[in-house]
Amino acid sequence: MELNSMDEVHLARCVALARAAADAGDGAFGSILVDSAGQVLAEDLNRETTAGDPTAHPELALVRWAIASLEPDARAASTVYTSGEHCPMCAAAHAWAGLGRIVYAASSAQLAQWRAGWGLPSAPVRPLSINEVAPGITAVGPVPPFDDQMREVHANALPK
Ligand SMILES: [Zn+2]
Repeated sequence: MELNSMDEVHLARCVALARAAADAGDGAFGSILVDSAGQVLAEDLNRETTAGDPTAHPELALVRWAIASLEPDARAASTVYTSGEHCPMCAAAHAWAGLGRIVYAASSAQLAQWRAGWGLPSAPVRPLSINEVAPGITAVGPVPPFDDQMREVHANALPK
């Protein structure tokens, strides 16, 4: 894996955002958009419950922000860090917007496996990898120990 020291800082922020989303009653997902110099440009977290919008995924919100705010060159040079690998909707939007590298803490396959183990229903969309949806995107993950941290965040958000 091609990770640098800032990758871990950014992934830790994504885990914190995911935890905040879960605390608010939303899905435990958080993401940030970083420019080519490593500067954080935008961040968001899942709002599917609080916004009443099942498509209120942070990765899609960052795509919208990037299209409104960045020229194509800057979008291509950016990196999106995220607590969980992009779903097919978000991976497709990321690719259509021409955004750059993705680094994710936990994979979609891991999340699907955890959810099945907890007896939760599967998602309405297949847990395809980013590269199954968007083969041209450089996607890095899962990244220990952040994947284990995300397992714990999801586990703590289970209905008691
Ligand atoms: Zn998504």
